[in-house]
Amino acid sequence: MPTFHDLAHDTQLYEILSRELARQRKKLQMIASENYVSMAVLAAGASVFTNKYAEGYPDHRYYGGCENADDLEILTQGRARKLFGAEHANVQPHCGSSANMASYFSVLKPGDTILGMNLTHGGHLTHGAPVSFSGKLFKTAFYGVRKDTEYIDYEALAEIAERVKPQIIVAGASSYPRIIDFPKFREVADRCGAYLMVDMAHFSGLVAAGLFPSPVPHADIVSTTTHKTLRGPRGGMILCRKNLAKAVDEQIFPGIQGGPLLHVIAAKAVALGEALEPEFIDYQRQVLKNCQRLGTHMTDAGYRLVSGGTDTHLILIDLRPSGINGQEAQTALDMAGITANRNVVPFEKECFSIASGLRLGTPALTTRGMIESDIDVVGEFIVDALRNVRNESRLNKIRMRVEDFIQKFPIYPDLKG
Ligand SMILES: *Cc1c(COP(=O)(O)O)cnc(C)c1O
Repeated sequence: MPTFHDLAHDTQLYEILSRELARQRKKLQMIASENYVSMAVLAAGASVFTNKYAEGYPDHRYYGGCENADDLEILTQGRARKLFGAEHANVQPHCGSSANMASYFSVLKPGDTILGMNLTHGGHLTHGAPVSFSGKLFKTAFYGVRKDTEYIDYEALAEIAERVKPQIIVAGASSYPRIIDFPKFREVADRCGAYLMVDMAHFSGLVAAGLFPSPVPHADIVSTTTHKTLRGPRGGMILCRKNLAKAVDEQIFPGIQGGPLLHVIAAKAVALGEALEPEFIDYQRQVLKNCQRLGTHMTDAGYRLVSGGTDTHLILIDLRPSGINGQEAQTALDMAGITANRNVVPFEKECFSIASGLRLGTPALTTRGMIESDIDVVGEFIVDALRNVRNESRLNKIRMRVEDFIQKFPIYPDLKG
């Protein structure tokens, strides 16, 4: 087990790490893309596999001494396939973005067209944004949500696909709180002869628990991160059909990465093992119940939720009717001991660094053991802070109450810092 004592001689680093541990313990962590991994995942991530080079894949390595690396990667691939019912799994992507890059390269040529979800409607940078490699190397087109319902506009999606004839359609998002209709996406992709890729980075934990429709039967390629709802180490993963396995593997290595991060793969193995246990389903069920409760609490307090609610682990609050912007909300919450992030809402005019929305998620708080009645308390803290964004002493008082409340939900009790 890694302990902070092994770092005590490096006082500068020790001090930073201790502060980070304290921050993670005493704040209400509500960033929808974050979570707390288990001690076992932490331990695997700090293991001696960090010392090993293993370019290539099991039984086809470019270095000696890879027999244990092979066993590790085969074990991890097997757990990933089993958890998601996939034909092939590549567990080497260093992050979600590199999983997406390799996925594109495995079926597209530079200059081909990606049809992705509009960034301002919930899509991810890697789905074709001009500042991302995806928008620089490929032509792009975007679909989004309907103005009236704020659900994905599947009719417009079909029309755009028909018009631009993309080589790939990407489904999946970072701040879309609703179920996605994968059979519909498949139908649209088939009609224009495009590949269908689903980026389930945010909701893969829900998919693993059977609480969000699985994209695996419908998509040619499924990419994910492992550190969001899936509650593993920071990293990525690609699932695909057998026919694309070789192309995907070659695009991860040697295509865009060098040696795999074996220690992170070990941590992925642990997390996937945890996700295969029945308790993981209970956990994800509670994530959803907590998010429903949070949504209800915010709606009852007069806040407008984008799409009117949520089917997932996150809600997106449109702050425009409340007269504050996302930046102000994020700063105020921070002072109140609540960590969250501002987010643009569909069809808004603000820039990304101000934004008019606030995204809140329940995965991390649920890992700490919170249930609906606790979320009611959290909801009160949030509403109190949002109504007093310029009242510093009030925000400080809320923070003291948060720090008191959160002691009932200890995290990493065995870690000293
Ligand atoms: C988080 C996220 C990613 C990128 O993950 P990184 O590990 O930060 O590169 C990709 N796609 C979606 C939809 C995401 O939400």
